Amino acid sequence: MKQKKKLGLTTIIFIALILGSLTGVILYSFVPAGYVRDTVIVNGIFDIVGSGFIRGMQMLVVPLVFFSLVCGSMAIGDTKKLGKVGVRTLVFYLCTTALAIAVALCVANILDPGKNLDMSSVAVADVKVAEATNIKDTILAIIPTNPIKALANGDMLAIIFFALFIGILLAAGGERFETLANIFSQGNDLMMDMTMAVMKVAPIGVFCLVAKTFGSLGYDAFAPMLKYMIAVFLALGIQCFGVYQILLFISTRLNPIRFLKKFFPVMAFAFSTATSNATIPLSIETLDEKLGVSRRISSFTIPLGATINMDGTSIMQGVAVVFVAQAFGIQLDMMDYLTVILTATLASVGTAGVPSVGLITLSMVFNSVGLPVEGIGLIMGIDRILDMTRTAVNVTGDAICTTIVAKRDGMLDEKVFNQMQ
Ligand code: ASP
Repeated sequence: MKQKKKLGLTTIIFIALILGSLTGVILYSFVPAGYVRDTVIVNGIFDIVGSGFIRGMQMLVVPLVFFSLVCGSMAIGDTKKLGKVGVRTLVFYLCTTALAIAVALCVANILDPGKNLDMSSVAVADVKVAEATNIKDTILAIIPTNPIKALANGDMLAIIFFALFIGILLAAGGERFETLANIFSQGNDLMMDMTMAVMKVAPIGVFCLVAKTFGSLGYDAFAPMLKYMIAVFLALGIQCFGVYQILLFISTRLNPIRFLKKFFPVMAFAFSTATSNATIPLSIETLDEKLGVSRRISSFTIPLGATINMDGTSIMQGVAVVFVAQAFGIQLDMMDYLTVILTATLASVGTAGVPSVGLITLSMVFNSVGLPVEGIGLIMGIDRILDMTRTAVNVTGDAICTTIVAKRDGMLDEKVFNQMQ
């Protein structure tokens, strides 16, 4: 009975995604622009319902990460084990990101998206430039000087640090902290229930979000940028359905198709909202309930991944580098590509997973190899749809890594993973 209901949600979200896209495209193509279409429907009803849904999920992110991470680290207790999990996860995240950019650079060099580009046909937008990340500051910011402020600001790395610290001490304190430990544990349960409650309206939320996006995309801007978009989609596809699934199979022998099927609602949520941060609660819940990955591990690796592991974003950045270099007739050599791999990997560390952030950090990558930052203006107009797609890949990367680490550390229930839906 319970399983039947779950299958229902996955299917309904899928249908909502398709119907929402179609509605948006139909509205854009067949309903004349004006007050009713643009103000009342697209930016009125669709926006209010869609944004309300995202806010509902965002509301849960900080308390859920905090409670579940305290509980997770308390349950693991052993700092050595936590350290091992941490190091494994970090290495995995860095390697998959580097791999992702390498895939992107190869695909882009094969498709040559920027060669013979007629620049006058592309609408150029104003560019926001990111300040170069200071590695020292990023590392120091992990330790919050005021944990309440870190929670209020949603500083994920600082929250992770503080929550881990509490969990470890609660475990060490044993009975002395029994009441407090129970409070955290019940808070965690409550947040999971809230996640499920918000997800009840997911089909409507997803429908409105994609309908709004597809109802207001500037399709005219697509034509001259088609090759660039195809290159990004192709590289994202290779990473998501090729690289990740091979890694999953080789290191765990788990069935990749089953993983993708069960994880699909999370990808759909990330796609329609374009924020991996807001996807954290759903990702943790799905990994636990459907894929058998213990929250002890996902409560740590998923928020960490949403902050430091953005493979999809790095792919866009890799393709964008080649695209802009070709469009401006700038020659890049092997050393430049290595620099791109390094800076794009570092650029994503410490940046929250929110819409469009990848475009902002792209300026750092461009600066590192001397590409004109104005080049970003070329790709801005069509970025939303790529942002949605790469966010789905970003969250998949975090979940694949979490599943692999969980399996290795004996925190994956294969019975749940293999259960048919
Ligand atoms: N929207 C992406 C995310 O939340 C980040 C980006 O690429 O802009 O993961």
